[in-house]
Amino acid sequence: MHTSLDRIINDLETLATYTSTPGEGVTRSSYSKEDQMAKDYLKKEMEKIGLDVHEDAFSTVFGRREGKNPNAPTIIIGSHYDSVVNGGRFDGTAGVVAALETLRVFEENNIENYYPIEIIAMNAEEGETFGPGSGVSNSRAMVGTLTEKELDLAKNRFGETKREAMKKYGLVPDLEAAKRDMSKVKSFIELHIEQGPNLEAQNIDIGLVEFLAGIGRYMVKFHGKFEDSTASMDTRQDALIAASKFILALNQLINELGEGITGTVGMINVSPNSNQYVPEFAEISVEIRTMDKTVLDKVNILEEFKKIIEMIEAETNVKVEIEERARIGYPNPTPPSVMDKETVKLMEDICDELNYSSMIINKGTGHDAMITAEYVPTNMIYVPSKEGISHHPDEWTDYEDLQKGIEVMLHTVKKLCQKG
Ligand SMILES: [Zn+2]
Repeated sequence: MHTSLDRIINDLETLATYTSTPGEGVTRSSYSKEDQMAKDYLKKEMEKIGLDVHEDAFSTVFGRREGKNPNAPTIIIGSHYDSVVNGGRFDGTAGVVAALETLRVFEENNIENYYPIEIIAMNAEEGETFGPGSGVSNSRAMVGTLTEKELDLAKNRFGETKREAMKKYGLVPDLEAAKRDMSKVKSFIELHIEQGPNLEAQNIDIGLVEFLAGIGRYMVKFHGKFEDSTASMDTRQDALIAASKFILALNQLINELGEGITGTVGMINVSPNSNQYVPEFAEISVEIRTMDKTVLDKVNILEEFKKIIEMIEAETNVKVEIEERARIGYPNPTPPSVMDKETVKLMEDICDELNYSSMIINKGTGHDAMITAEYVPTNMIYVPSKEGISHHPDEWTDYEDLQKGIEVMLHTVKKLCQKG
């Protein structure tokens, strides 16, 4: 029982041709022509191995291998195949190919599964396509947390809302119908490239995840007064001074909360950004990550920010605005998403049996697995990314490395799909 490297390479190379930016990485935006081409390819490959292929009312593709007990809960495996603009060929797509190759091996070897197994191929994971907070849409539609409102709010780079882009794609979304009864899902497993340097740097084959950090995002804007740099110090309304105070206060607040939470200001814009004027405007991004479920019981982050802002406004006479960039319908920040422990252990054992090295990686970006983890036992398998690069034409994973991850998926699913 083995996966085929040739088939894996063929899938990834074929899918990489469905790009609107040939020669400049993969651009396969949600609801584009390239999305449709990739979807057609995936459906054809699923049909070749006798899967029952269907699309839900949100255009998520499922390929089902019936179980010996058709009423038993379903094991879902897969990922997304949409990409950012000028992205790579592996992010997301590697996980869809992993699921496909897993079931090919099942078919080839007549492996019996008591539990039904379904491949999921999602086309709207990337948050960049429709702006902050709008990603992981297929999984949110599946669990029922995507709202009708959002379909009319978020816009892509062509100025189309999700609903408009879907309409052009020939889809009238029906969120009620797309909602799946998650009590009839046994587990969800997603293979993904690491999007970080750890596996490659330490020469480790497989990354296993215990939890994915939760996330909170905010933009804070500071409106001061434009003046010459000779303006008197005591009457200034300096936007950058106010922003600086905020950054320091945030740092102190997060430090005081202790372990289990981090806070970062990684972006700042200042205007006019000139040596001879008092900054009139400054804008910063705040990213909070949570690693511990209980940390958010202790504190309401937004309330704390508002207290800081009130103080700064009084001190600096600068007007401060805070905007939440949360995933719509979710708390900001979200708690961490905890993966299924038993299956992590199972995967570790499988790695040992296959002679692959493995390590736990509890870092990483957003994935559909984050959404499903709240509802069903969920697990992830990371494979190495060259230099940790992703969302870029240079994104690369050696096919042999990817194959190892797929072998782990195959053996895990083979084990989970048996009765008992
Ligand atoms: Zn991804």
